[in-house]
Amino acid sequence: MRKSRSQIHDSFSIQPPKSSPKRIYQVWKGNNNFCCGGRVILGPDASSLFLTSFLIGCPAVAFCIKMALHMKPQDTIFNHQILLGGLVLTVLDLGFLFLTSLGDPGIIPRNTKPPEPTSDDDEVGKSTSFDWVNGKPSSRSLRLPRLKEVKLVTGETVQVKFCETCLLYRTPRASHCSICNNCVQRFDHHCPWVGQCIGERNYSFFFCFISSSTALCIYVFTCSWVNILRQDCSFWTAVSRDFLSVVLILYCFIVVWFVGGLTVFHFYLISTNQTTYESFRYRYDRKVNPFNRGILSNFRQVFLSRIPPSLVKFRAWISEDDPDVQSSVFLYCNMEPLGEGVIAFSAPPTDA
Ligand SMILES: [Zn+2]
Ligand SMILES: [Zn+2]
Repeated sequence: MRKSRSQIHDSFSIQPPKSSPKRIYQVWKGNNNFCCGGRVILGPDASSLFLTSFLIGCPAVAFCIKMALHMKPQDTIFNHQILLGGLVLTVLDLGFLFLTSLGDPGIIPRNTKPPEPTSDDDEVGKSTSFDWVNGKPSSRSLRLPRLKEVKLVTGETVQVKFCETCLLYRTPRASHCSICNNCVQRFDHHCPWVGQCIGERNYSFFFCFISSSTALCIYVFTCSWVNILRQDCSFWTAVSRDFLSVVLILYCFIVVWFVGGLTVFHFYLISTNQTTYESFRYRYDRKVNPFNRGILSNFRQVFLSRIPPSLVKFRAWISEDDPDVQSSVFLYCNMEPLGEGVIAFSAPPTDA
C-alpha cells in the first residue's frame, strides 16, 4: 500500500536508517558527479568546466593586470573605472558559469518500477495507432502507451512521452539527456562547455553566462583597440610594441562570434518561448507553439519567475535494503508540481 504524504516525509529524517544508510546521491543511477556530500551536482563531463574557466579567466586576468600596470590617475580614458569594469564583468561571467554548472538543472527523479496502467490506458490501447512501451502489449506491467496527452492551463493539449530509462511519463518539455542519463525539466540542451544539462532550473543563469561572456569580449576588444590607437606613434609601431593587446583583439574577435551568436540565438528562443531542443526537433513555426505567451511574458517567465525547488533531495537518507522506502522517495518527488501550467496529467491515483 502506498504511503501517505506525512509518512513519506518521515523517510527524509535527518537521522540515518539502521540498515545500509546511504544518501540518495550515493545510489543515484544517473551519470552525475557529486561534491560536498551531494550539495554540488555536476555533469559527467564537468572537467570541461576547468577548460572554460581557463579560457575566460586567462585573457581577462591578463587584460586587468595590463590595465592595472599602465593606467594613470590623470588619464581620462584608462583609469580605475576601466579596470573596475573589466573585473566586474569577469567576476559576473565566472559566477554565472559556476551557477549554471554546479546545481541541479531540473532532474526528474526516476521510478524504480513503471506506473500502474490506468483505465485510460486501456481506452487508448483500442486505438490502431497505439504504440506500446517496449512493444510488448502482452506484459501487464508494460501495458502503457508510449505517448499520453496532458492539458495545459491555456487549454492546449500536448503529448508527453514515456521514458523507458526513468520509467515515468515526462512532464511537458522534459527530455532525457543521454550524456547525464536523466530526464530534465524544460530540457534545452547538454552544454559541453559548462559540462551540465541546461534545463528549467539553470537556463536563466546560462543565458546570463553567455550574455556576460559576449559583453566581456566586446569590452576587452574595444579597450585593446583604443589602447593601440591612442599611442603617439605609427599604427604598426604600436602593434609591434603592444603584443598583448593584439593577442586580446584577435582572441576576442574569434570568441565573440561564437558567444555573441549563441546569445542572439537564445534571445530569439526566449522571445518565442522555445528550447533549443524544441527549435531543432519540432519546429513550432509549422503550428502554434502552446507555450508562447507573448515576448514580455516569455522574458518574465525566464528571468522573473521563481526557480522551482529541486525535485530530488540528493542528501536525503535512503536504505538500499528497503525498496518500499526507495520507491516512496521517488514517488514523493514525482508528486511535486508538474510545471508549465499542467492542469491534468494521468498520474497514478494516491490512496487516502
Ligand atoms: Zn529519462
Ligand atoms: Zn546532460
